[in-house]
Amino acid sequence: MTSFQSEKMQKTTFPLFILLLYRLTVPVYAHGQPESGGLSAAEKNKLESLMHAMTLGEKIGQLSLFTQGFEMTGPAGTFNLRQLIREGKAGGVFNAVGVDSIRAIQRIAVEESRLKIPLLFGLDVIHGYRTIYPIPLAQACTWDLPLIEQIERAAASEASAAGLNWTFAPMVDLARDPRWGRVAEGSGEDTWLGCRIAEARVKGFQGSGLRLANTLMACVKHYAAYGAAQAGRDYHTVDLSPVSLYEWYLPPYRAAVDAGAGSVMSSFNEINGVPATGNRWLLTDVLRKEWGFEGFVVSDWTSVNEMMNHGVAADTAGVARLAISAGLDMDMMSGAYMGSLERLVLDHAVSVPVIDSAVRRVLEAKFRLGLFDDPYRRCDPSREKTEILSKEKRALARQSAAESCVLLKNEGNILPVPSTVRRIAVIGPLGNSGADMMGCWSGQGRAEECVTLLDGIRTRTGNGTEVTFTRGCSVKGTGRSGFDSAVAAAMAADFVVMALGESEDMSGEAASRASLGLPGLQEELAERIVQTGKPVVVVLFNGRPLVLTRLASVVPALLEAWQGGTEAGNGIADVLFGEVNPSGKLTMCFPRSEGQVPVFYNAKPTGRPMDPAHPDEKYVSRYLDEANDPLFPFGFGLSYTTFSYSEMTASVTGNRITVQVRVANTGARDGEEAVQLYVRDRIATITRPVKELRGFQKVFLKKGESERITFTLTSDDLAFYHPDLRKYCEPGEFVLFAGGSSAEGLSVEVKTE
Ligand code: BGC
Repeated sequence: MTSFQSEKMQKTTFPLFILLLYRLTVPVYAHGQPESGGLSAAEKNKLESLMHAMTLGEKIGQLSLFTQGFEMTGPAGTFNLRQLIREGKAGGVFNAVGVDSIRAIQRIAVEESRLKIPLLFGLDVIHGYRTIYPIPLAQACTWDLPLIEQIERAAASEASAAGLNWTFAPMVDLARDPRWGRVAEGSGEDTWLGCRIAEARVKGFQGSGLRLANTLMACVKHYAAYGAAQAGRDYHTVDLSPVSLYEWYLPPYRAAVDAGAGSVMSSFNEINGVPATGNRWLLTDVLRKEWGFEGFVVSDWTSVNEMMNHGVAADTAGVARLAISAGLDMDMMSGAYMGSLERLVLDHAVSVPVIDSAVRRVLEAKFRLGLFDDPYRRCDPSREKTEILSKEKRALARQSAAESCVLLKNEGNILPVPSTVRRIAVIGPLGNSGADMMGCWSGQGRAEECVTLLDGIRTRTGNGTEVTFTRGCSVKGTGRSGFDSAVAAAMAADFVVMALGESEDMSGEAASRASLGLPGLQEELAERIVQTGKPVVVVLFNGRPLVLTRLASVVPALLEAWQGGTEAGNGIADVLFGEVNPSGKLTMCFPRSEGQVPVFYNAKPTGRPMDPAHPDEKYVSRYLDEANDPLFPFGFGLSYTTFSYSEMTASVTGNRITVQVRVANTGARDGEEAVQLYVRDRIATITRPVKELRGFQKVFLKKGESERITFTLTSDDLAFYHPDLRKYCEPGEFVLFAGGSSAEGLSVEVKTE
């Protein structure tokens, strides 16, 4: 038997006795969770005595989660929160912030309620709490996992200093459709990269143990496949083959669970006819039985009740029964558990052990967070003072804003801005807007604390350079009255930096778009400015890939800056003026037109592939009116220097493939390159993508320097899900590609046996 086959055997026949041995020799902590996450014997006793003491009503209370006060993304209901807490009818509260306010609410739970069970305090810390970092999609474009982990560590530290102990993040939904506004919150279109980023984020939030006061418990969302909404319309139907689910959509959730995430959020959508929130197969069979998840599952906002709209139950009791029986532990905002579970238990429609298991999981989380030791552990006013918006966090935000930038075009090396430039015109509706730098889910971020592009350029250039600002037009409007003054400003300058894109409300939840161009008249404004003949650079602020086909054909330089957060303007100025050499690479394709959507790099081959040498051939898989490939592919991003690839080799030894490639910095500046490794399985029993990312390394090379990069793959990297939903590798021929994007580079073939 050969190495690559033996792996298959191991996977398929993993012997039971090994599993048993594992159970006997390894302490029983949740899958992959650090030892510090377990409960001590005393805590287990305490948990059991609480279970004993609780009334059914109090148990159901632990399974209910309510928002503090204001309406966010769904109906807030008419709960008297304080009263509910006092009566032991709430397990947690979200959207409360600040040490004083959280302490006051926690006090009701631990002093005024009968059993004094502390509350969870959750918030959507999606890309920062008060110091806002680039949107998650932008962070992904850094291809810098340690940086992403560091961002979440800093975000957790800041949010926990404000009293919080739980974040509704990471959002790990794979998304291939840029119409969906929530692509901003995820990592893009690639499963493998999405897994690595999911792990980094969980580690960052949870740090070296949830008992530490500077950590947040992670909540992986939105389980599952929320990003596969039909036609990119938010909350819409998901219909996926089981193989696609296992191969593409589920792995990032699993990676986050394996990294020790303490909780999971069920998604709004249905999957193959069953809403995720009432989906026993997803919540119990896959999540708990297959993956060994031991944390708790919370619903998304009112998604228990929304199952009535989905049409799988007629009333609140019906949806509550579906959800709790499926394995959904905590009801966010529906009030369905609170209103119906007691009656359902009395009617024997739901059993007490089912309720008890859910309650245990919620209580275990509270123990793991150290809340029973000290419910005010994260309510330290001195930390709140020093941690919030600290100098170090701002510096990290600036670094990440710069690293997220993707240089899409730089004709004639117009960037970096030459040091001789003395008059700069900043033009465009997003040039001086703090709020739009933050993007969706900006926590407690404040517009007035954000560095705008104009601020950033002014600070960097200092007094010797005149920097003007002209809006030109609004983001979405149809008025041209500002065009003339914008043209005049360009004429009076030596260099123009335009700030165009989407406003912060155009991506995120409930922000799907059917057209993906620059909204309003921004493209027209750009054309007018280019006609002045001045050097023009467009800096783009947006929460999703846009259709830039026309814009990219008229402007000489395009810098994708996404929504960079509190320090956006400084970070972008670092890139524009050459202090930082851009190294970001796209993690989602930018389509040429909406009709191509979804367009993603790891598509399957067809029986009639288009031959690029004969693009007009009729009966092949292509559009009559559009190219097949995207405008900017996955993995693409330019630098102020250039890199070349050579000497690619690959060899197979046993269960390993060693791939080497030489990367040289052939330009005139030092720079970093995300060297990417892709694989194609030539012949397999089911069709495989034309290529799939299986590794990358971000390397820094001084000008003129070169380095031989080594990747090691195992059979696991070549394995895939088969129709029986088992994952194993089929030995044979594989093509390996190495390059600076998914669309270019070198390739070699190997054969495994
Ligand atoms: C969103 C979740 C979020 C929750 C709580 C929902 O509308 O879908 O992502 O965590 O609200 O704010």
